[in-house]
Amino acid sequence: MSGTSCFEWWIRPLAFFSFCHCPRSCVFVISPLILPPLIVRPLVSMRFLRLRSRSIVAMLFLFSLSSSFLYFIYVAPGLANQYLFMMQASTIKLKENVRTISAQVYEQIRNEGRIDVNMSLISFAKVQTLVSNLGVRPGGHWRPNDCKPRWKVAILIPFRNRHEHLPILLRHLVPMLQRQHLQFAFYLIEQASDLPFNRAMLFNVGYLEALKDLAWDCFVFHDVDHIPENDRNYYGCGLMPRHFAHKLDKYMYILPYDEFFGGVSGLTTQQFKRINGFPNAFWGWGGEDDDLWNRVTFAGYNVSRPPGDIGKYKSIPHHHHGEVQFLGRYKLLRRSKERNFLDGLINLNYTARVSVEPLFKKISVNLVPDQAPISDY
Ligand code: BGC
Repeated sequence: MSGTSCFEWWIRPLAFFSFCHCPRSCVFVISPLILPPLIVRPLVSMRFLRLRSRSIVAMLFLFSLSSSFLYFIYVAPGLANQYLFMMQASTIKLKENVRTISAQVYEQIRNEGRIDVNMSLISFAKVQTLVSNLGVRPGGHWRPNDCKPRWKVAILIPFRNRHEHLPILLRHLVPMLQRQHLQFAFYLIEQASDLPFNRAMLFNVGYLEALKDLAWDCFVFHDVDHIPENDRNYYGCGLMPRHFAHKLDKYMYILPYDEFFGGVSGLTTQQFKRINGFPNAFWGWGGEDDDLWNRVTFAGYNVSRPPGDIGKYKSIPHHHHGEVQFLGRYKLLRRSKERNFLDGLINLNYTARVSVEPLFKKISVNLVPDQAPISDY
């Protein structure tokens, strides 16, 4: 003991000097000389105490036991809460997964796959007879009566002057959706004004109008001239927004660009509300689907697509029937983020004429820019 102390007192000033003034390597040389007495000495005195009084050790033991107990009481509610939350979250996740993934697997096994697309013209009356034989009710509404549908899907179709296309589309969609055991109805949103076609604003109107009928939980935004080629293309929604039509015959079944979100897409009611719907400011052909893609990614979603060839579509040939291209779309797209919560469901005011037809509900709107006022952009 005394040797240790003796060694310690004379080495201390040296150590101080070394730490402050020596280069680093010098510290490594001197520290083995300083540290052993610093560590050994308290341990020896502890040992000395323990030898002299076991009760101190017992006290220390009791103290640590009681403090552990107190610590446990303190953290236990937090742990229990966290555990319960994890259980709850995993149940929710499991339920969601059962609803989406397994539904898709199930439908993929049951359905036939390729659809024989028939592009020949057919009259409304003929499709009406076909469809009413399939049990479709006025408004194009159908629900399976042998099971609880996994999704209640509102199919929104923006429309102007494409009377020959609509019956062709419905002839394919009705049997496909029935095979998928979905509850569905068709909403035809017609632009009555002569201004350039505003596909996005029509979708916003359709969304708000459809929700007046029923608590739809999934929305499919469908171009009238896109015919699915595979009935495994499940028109339910999912945890992520879905792009159904990513392989189009008009683009030689190649995705034109990664962010392509046109033709047919689907979002849950909540997802669509969360991104403030489509922008209203795109008057003319093009750009609104790119802006929707931006909104979806700004909200942190990833777009999902059907695997393989399931997302193939044939387009009914036409030449945009005189629809003008929207040349200002690139300028608007550069400001997508700023416009996201200024323009969309939030600033939309409209008056619609609504009628229930045998195959769909028709919503006719006389769109003008004043119905979606926005000061900037
Ligand atoms: C337009 C999109 C369109 C895409 C493919 C883009 O230039 O902005 O609206 O879907 O081309 O046709």
